[in-house]
Amino acid sequence: MKILKFGGTSVGSAQRMKDVAALINNGHQDLVVLSAMSGTTNTLVEISDLLYKKKHAEANEKIDQLAEKYAGVIDELYATKLYREQAHEFIRLKMNYLRSFIKEPFTSLEERCILAQGELMSTGMMNLYFHETGVNSVILPALEYMRTDENAEPDTRYINEKLLDMLKKNPNAAFYITEGYICLNTNGEIDNLQRGGSDYTASLAGAALNVEEIQIWTDIDGMHNNDPRVVEKTSPVRFLSFDEAAELAYFGAKILHPTCILPAKVKNIPVRLLNSLQPGATGTTILNDLEKDKIKAVAAKDNITAIKIKSGRMLLATGFLRKVFEIFETWHTPIDMVTTSEVGVSLTIDNPTHLDEIVGDLKKYGAVTVDRNMVIICVVGDLKWENIGFAATIVNALNDIPVRMISFGGSNFNVSLLIKASDKKRALQSLSEQLFNGASAK
Ligand code: ADP
Ligand code: ASP
Ligand code: MG
Repeated sequence: MKILKFGGTSVGSAQRMKDVAALINNGHQDLVVLSAMSGTTNTLVEISDLLYKKKHAEANEKIDQLAEKYAGVIDELYATKLYREQAHEFIRLKMNYLRSFIKEPFTSLEERCILAQGELMSTGMMNLYFHETGVNSVILPALEYMRTDENAEPDTRYINEKLLDMLKKNPNAAFYITEGYICLNTNGEIDNLQRGGSDYTASLAGAALNVEEIQIWTDIDGMHNNDPRVVEKTSPVRFLSFDEAAELAYFGAKILHPTCILPAKVKNIPVRLLNSLQPGATGTTILNDLEKDKIKAVAAKDNITAIKIKSGRMLLATGFLRKVFEIFETWHTPIDMVTTSEVGVSLTIDNPTHLDEIVGDLKKYGAVTVDRNMVIICVVGDLKWENIGFAATIVNALNDIPVRMISFGGSNFNVSLLIKASDKKRALQSLSEQLFNGASAK
């Protein structure tokens, strides 16, 4: 068995759904994970924002627009009147459900119910499409097996047991379809695995069923060696190790959700990134093997805040770093990069929600400065310290760009550099030229 996960663009229109249906219906009893149609989750977020602000008429209008969009897709997707009517009725009920939230109070619970509807719609519509064409696809409802625990972490034992049980009850399915992203939380409420979390559903389900392979189908031919949204002339990377893929996903390569690597790595299940617009392309395969002496790719993480604490007291002081880190822990704020010197420490965070409180607490230990609008550039590959030359090439590529922090040696796979957001494009382009397209590529 394999997992086949299709992202929003892969199911983004009636034609795209028909195209991926052909990839799914391949004679194998796989488990297919679907995202919401592209744009839908964003619209559901917008509807929720309007409802938080009590802008009921505007929310209703947005729901009308969504209903219209889906009606158009249905008319194009189904060939028979019978299935068109069934699909229209299915979507009509979903829109009524969305409208039932046009009231007060509107809380996070209601919002999460709204956000879950995108995946429920795409999966239901796809299943109807298969049934219309005489294929015995079976939905395994994510809300019946995907559950998080009291720490908001996946309850893997529950997921394993439930999924296996559900498969056993449906032995004759041509294949199985499930909703990405959505889950129940420990209180039994509808919840989700965070934006982009369908990739996580795919790897959790893959690990639970110990599948042969997890395929992530998207709109590009694999992980590229730089961000194709920013840089010209990027190309796909054929192989990545799990560690390299995790660094790239965490540091901004949007093609993969960062959480999705670990379950696959633990079970040593290959992850393949494939292009539903170009199914024959090789894509990227993520395995446990590290290719030696190669820099694979560059990624960038936006909206970073750098914080520097300068303290005379750090000199010879034990426990200084512990106290600093404890402040971030107290405010539930993860740290991405750290650099230290004799007199101070610089750190970066990507969640500034508690920045004021953090800075207030840090001031007890020294002078604090904050730099906003920064970007972490992360270069990933076989970057163990004995591998001479790469660090110099990376720093040289940025020779005319001010670098606020450099972090090397934290792992064997990455060098991270902190720069201003306004220098990001120039830095990424220059790294591509030096590392992948230029004469200095090793
Ligand atoms: P899906 O909707 O299928 O989950 P995403 O939009 O989440 O797809 O991810 C695919 C997108 O990731 C691509 O269209 C591309 O613009 C973006 N992306 C960012 N960095 C990279 C990279 N290094 N390699 C490939 N794609 C990347
Ligand atoms: N539909 C959700 C999102 O847009 C989850 C996903 O696509 O992975 O974030
Ligand atoms: Mg995605």
